[in-house]
Amino acid sequence: MAAAIQAELERQRNTLILIASENFASRAVMEAQGCVMTNKYAEGYPGRRYYRGTAYVDVAELLAKERCTKLFGAEHVNVQPHSGTQANMAAYFAVLKPGDTIMGMNLAHGGHLSHGSPVNFSGKMYRIVPYNVSRDTEMLDYSEMLDIAKKNKPQLIVVGASSYPRIINFKIVREIADEVGAMVMADIAHIAGLVAAGAHPSPVPYSDIITTTTHKTLRGPRGALIMCRQELASAIDRSVFPGTQGGPFMQAIAAKAVAFKEALTPEFKDYQFQIVKNAGALADRLKENDFDLVSGGTDNHLMLVKLLKEGITGKEADETLERANITLNKNMIPFDPATPFVTSGIRIGTPCVTTRGMKEKEMVQIADLITAVLRDIKNDTTIKFVGSEVRDLCDQFQLYPDLT
Ligand SMILES: *Cc1c(COP(=O)(O)O)cnc(C)c1O
Repeated sequence: MAAAIQAELERQRNTLILIASENFASRAVMEAQGCVMTNKYAEGYPGRRYYRGTAYVDVAELLAKERCTKLFGAEHVNVQPHSGTQANMAAYFAVLKPGDTIMGMNLAHGGHLSHGSPVNFSGKMYRIVPYNVSRDTEMLDYSEMLDIAKKNKPQLIVVGASSYPRIINFKIVREIADEVGAMVMADIAHIAGLVAAGAHPSPVPYSDIITTTTHKTLRGPRGALIMCRQELASAIDRSVFPGTQGGPFMQAIAAKAVAFKEALTPEFKDYQFQIVKNAGALADRLKENDFDLVSGGTDNHLMLVKLLKEGITGKEADETLERANITLNKNMIPFDPATPFVTSGIRIGTPCVTTRGMKEKEMVQIADLITAVLRDIKNDTTIKFVGSEVRDLCDQFQLYPDLT
């Protein structure tokens, strides 16, 4: 196991990771995540636990809640959800009955499994009405969303995405929901860091519930949280525990508290704005290199490259790029003719490379390296050459230099 962990560290160091949902947590976050709080059972909430000996884990959970409230300006926070999907499950259980209607973004258009995919609990337990991006703009079509909402009268509109490169207008979604008497849940798993820093508009004023993971742009430990209005606080808390989880992962909650403290610093704010600038620079260069991007570009931390014109699949692209030490994922593009296992696109995100300290200049270089591979996908010499350029770039921006 030690060898596998060491090899994983070297893999993270020596490859360009462009997976939009990943990041590199700080040493402090990782240390908290590996601390003695992992040993403690603490079912319940601070001051109301079912076990003795919870004085110090209470400190951790109260700190996490207090810092998170400050970071996002939410009225209530629950920091216990183990993952984004579990946060969504707890949120649905708090406000819906089985068979109720959820309106969520189509998975094939950028939504998440837990927003109503038929293979996920959400699609099995609820009636799902999906909304799409528009064929013309490949952006959210709020007037179509209003039509779908009026026709289907959902109890809950879920807004948020895993592969959508544009700003989401939470205010309009609130107005749509108000027209049909629906609640709004914003799932900001991908953009939480941007939202915390003000690099993306906040859903907090416009949502009944907000869920997010803590390990994506927010750069905390693997985990999640739920925010809500005060009226929903006890329903959400009961839905997390005892509704859908048992004992909280206190080591993860401690690490969330550390991450929120980091996220409250001016450096974190600069980091989030740099993620967006980097994505813009990478997208611009790919366009100069004649690639088509979904929606024509990006406003956030990610972009989707359409490979239809190139005649290569997402699967071929991500496999070949991996051989050149570039790690990213194949991704469905809107109205994709290919299957989800093959796809016609790739998703590129800048959170990881920005954490390493790379700026616009390196983004241009990365775009050119990706271009070299994709333009000559069967050429082993090119793949090898790009692979060594990537190693050089990684050496210039060291990751965890003090870890051995
Ligand atoms: C990543 C993601 C999740 C789920 O996260 P897990 O922790 O993997 O369960 C939920 N919603 C969205 C929009 C996501 O991108």
